[in-house]
Amino acid sequence: MDLGLRGKSIMVAAASRGLGYGIARQAAKEGARVSIAAPTEPRVHESAKCLREETGAEVISCAFDARDEGSITEWCNTTIAQFGGIDGLVVNAGGPPAGLFDDFDDSDWQAAFELTLLSSVRMIRSVLPSMRERGSGSILTVTSSSVKEPIDMLLLSNVMRSGVTSLAKSLSQQLAGEGIRVNNLVPGAINTDRLRGLMQTQSERTGVPFEEISKARAATVPMGRFGEADEFGQAGAFLLSDAAAYITGETLVVDGGAMKTVW
Ligand code: NAD
Repeated sequence: MDLGLRGKSIMVAAASRGLGYGIARQAAKEGARVSIAAPTEPRVHESAKCLREETGAEVISCAFDARDEGSITEWCNTTIAQFGGIDGLVVNAGGPPAGLFDDFDDSDWQAAFELTLLSSVRMIRSVLPSMRERGSGSILTVTSSSVKEPIDMLLLSNVMRSGVTSLAKSLSQQLAGEGIRVNNLVPGAINTDRLRGLMQTQSERTGVPFEEISKARAATVPMGRFGEADEFGQAGAFLLSDAAAYITGETLVVDGGAMKTVW
């Protein structure tokens, strides 16, 4: 199936590695022009070079921090200057730290709000003028299975990502008439640095070896394994594309069957 992404201008946040990179890679393979951003230089530029070399796609990269409105605006302006406008945005950032209610004070809650929820508002706000000018666009937020089943030890993430889900659903209603779709893509357990880091934290807290935790966690997935960033990326490329033209306000779960909710 031709997804219809060829020549489309797609911005992917937090894409130097992991899930963002997985989506950027699949979009680039489909012929999209891709603009990736992440905080660490030279890593983000190296990742863009890899994408260019592998796919032959036009790929640009910017250093940005999702918590900094100025750098979001700069990334957006750079993309418009290079690609002439924006067709798609993937809202993504690093995850808030793990912990229980008693572990966090106001400053932790504020930091999680800025990293996960406020950054989503700001990224979406920055691309809307260009999408409105084009009369079309696709926005995708990367959230977590915690929006359906809160995850132990990830309280900050559970709460802030529910806000992002609500934001996306509300915006999907508001923007549908303008040709702009908004969806959420939910990773279950996808084999990235983030997942490995969380299991490492769990190992340090409990004294259970990392390998044991990893094996036990993978065994909870009906498919018996973690997902790969490329598998997540393929679902992302689909939702960004015209192949998903009649899908908006949806939450698509990529989790190997791990979630047991009916909806
Ligand atoms: P990762 O650690 O592999 O990659 C994180 C990416 O975010 C990197 O490119 C990093 O540079 C970037 N980043 C970090 N801090 C940032 C900031 N302040 N501003 C902008 N970019 C920043 O993680 P991942 O697995 O790709 O996870 C991406 C998101 O999905 C995270 O929020 C994570 O919590 C969430 N998530 C992941 C999983 C999973 O199984 N991998 C499951 C549920 C939710």
